[in-house]
Amino acid sequence: MEPLELIVVGKETVAADTVKLTLQRLDGGPLPAAQPGAHIVLDLNGLVRRYSLLRADAAPTRYEIGVLRAANSRGGSRFIHEQLVVGSRLSLLDVANEFILDPTHPMCCCSAAASASRRC
Ligand SMILES: Cc1cc2nc3c(=O)[nH]c(=O)nc-3n(C[C@H](O)[C@H](O)[C@H](O)COP(=O)(O)OP(=O)(O)OC[C@H]3O[C@@H](n4cnc5c(N)ncnc54)[C@H](O)[C@@H]3O)c2cc1C
Repeated sequence: MEPLELIVVGKETVAADTVKLTLQRLDGGPLPAAQPGAHIVLDLNGLVRRYSLLRADAAPTRYEIGVLRAANSRGGSRFIHEQLVVGSRLSLLDVANEFILDPTHPMCCCSAAASASRRC
């Protein structure tokens, strides 16, 4: 997809070293659909980083992500925590999903990971 400019419309501390970011298009218009397990790919001041969407929505107008400040960050999560504020703009590079499950096949999910728990 072509890069899409987004604006931060919400930033909230939700846990230790973790913020929830809410992003939307500048005009508030529709965003690419997201299946369960999808993540967005963001350009963070030249660094490309991926963040799982908190909600899957077939017709989203906002994306929500939770971002942990990584210890010894080379810049991605540190940029989000220290530089992004409500009103900041950033580029959405892609919406991707590497964890698509086929509902026609039986499955057994055993995991403590956030990405797996949302689909089991
Ligand atoms: C599909 C996907 C979904 C993701 N979803 C989320 C999410 O929902 N929330 C979230 O917080 N993160 C998520 N991540 C991780 C996120 O993309 C970033 O990797 C994270 O924010 C750290 O980026 P950073 O630039 O701050 O840290 P980085 O600089 O990438 O550092 C991360 C860690 O690697 C170590 N490190 C630094 N340099 C090196 C090196 N040269 N070699 C080895 N290790 C090194 C650092 O010490 C640090 O602990 C996801 C990643 C993927 C692939």
